[in-house]
Amino acid sequence: MTTSAELFEQACRHIPGGVNSPVRAFKGLHRPPVFMESAKGAYLFDVEGKRYVDYVGSWGPMITGHADPDVLGAVRERLDKGLSFGTPTAVETTMAELICEIIPSIEMVRMTNSGTEATMSAIRLARGFTGRDKIVKFEGNYHGHSDSLLVKAGSGALTHGEPSSPGVPAALAEHTITLSYNDIDEVERCFEEIGSQIACIIVEPVAGNMNCIPPSADFLKTLRQVCDRHQSVLIFDEVMTGFRVALGGAQAHFGVTPDLTCLGKIVGGGMPVGAFGGSREIMSELSPLGPVYQAGTLAGNPLAMAAGVALLTKLKEPGFHKALAQRVETLCNGLESRAREAGIDMITQRVGGMFGVFFTAQSSVENFAQATACDADAFRRFFTAMLEQGVYLAPSAYEAGFMSSAHTPEDIQVTLDAAEKAFAQMTTQ
Ligand code: PMP
Repeated sequence: MTTSAELFEQACRHIPGGVNSPVRAFKGLHRPPVFMESAKGAYLFDVEGKRYVDYVGSWGPMITGHADPDVLGAVRERLDKGLSFGTPTAVETTMAELICEIIPSIEMVRMTNSGTEATMSAIRLARGFTGRDKIVKFEGNYHGHSDSLLVKAGSGALTHGEPSSPGVPAALAEHTITLSYNDIDEVERCFEEIGSQIACIIVEPVAGNMNCIPPSADFLKTLRQVCDRHQSVLIFDEVMTGFRVALGGAQAHFGVTPDLTCLGKIVGGGMPVGAFGGSREIMSELSPLGPVYQAGTLAGNPLAMAAGVALLTKLKEPGFHKALAQRVETLCNGLESRAREAGIDMITQRVGGMFGVFFTAQSSVENFAQATACDADAFRRFFTAMLEQGVYLAPSAYEAGFMSSAHTPEDIQVTLDAAEKAFAQMTTQ
């Protein structure tokens, strides 16, 4: 049997860092990443045959569990018809209709191959629509790895200590204004000074790339107001929150409507898919209707559309998101009570189907500075102890956790039992 450690060594010979996306590398965790062989429901199975209860869910898409038979069936059904045609297909319209029905602020939608392409394209569209160059984002929010957005970013960029990447031209980065998440006054001040130059605000309506940080009361509403006042475009990056914190995403959950919405992860059912959409007025600026160019050889790929349509259709079942949020609540309350009993300073934060675990004595974590002040070593020890007991958490203190509808009460109990042992180990180490 080939072990994960052996596979990682082989991978490192020809793949930078042995991985095709940095967070997978377990950087700072003092161990090689686990190589997975298969997955089913709430579980991952590694190459050595070990089972894990999974709270990563391929970083979000697997909201009904891995290898969902309905999603696999839809892909199988399309498979024999061919992989890609480079022409329109009817299933793309089905997908567009479904997205527009679920998220009413989206009147028109364009599919992409990733979340990165969705946000990059939405930014270009906002700039083209307004004729302005400057964009506002928030420290620790991650919107994929396009140049304008890799400034003070979260996720892997943060985990690897490079929130602002070399290779991003200074001339481009200077158009990206980064403000503090949840700081309403700072947003107001910025727009008072240079509002007429700002094309858009892009925001994670629940931050999920510096752990899980909900918006404070009125934060999103203030963003809507300043954008209205200054004719700037409000972009919600719902790549993570879309179809997860509520069926209609964070905009449905918090009752604040953006001009443009970026989607990814769940929308592709596990296939490489992103999307961005919004009002007919703004989306009509896109090529071939308008002058703002955006394209993709494989965008709207029929297999990917079939997977996404099958998954989104399942999520429309009444009560799905309420039950998902209840599972998250049970998990988070259970973790907090076990930490308290063990005398460990730890809190959880959650919105709908996503959550975060913070090793801190504070009662809440509301921004980047507070997220990065948490005890990184405690996280490392907790992560390692959980992994050893067969619970797979995101391998970084700066990523949100994801629940699926396949997680049973027994799976959650297994997780809580493992956490109890992990906390006990942490207090004796
Ligand atoms: N936006 C958000 C909020 C994300 O969480 C991510 C990825 N985690 C992206 C954009 C980029 O998506 P992708 O990795 O598919 O390019």
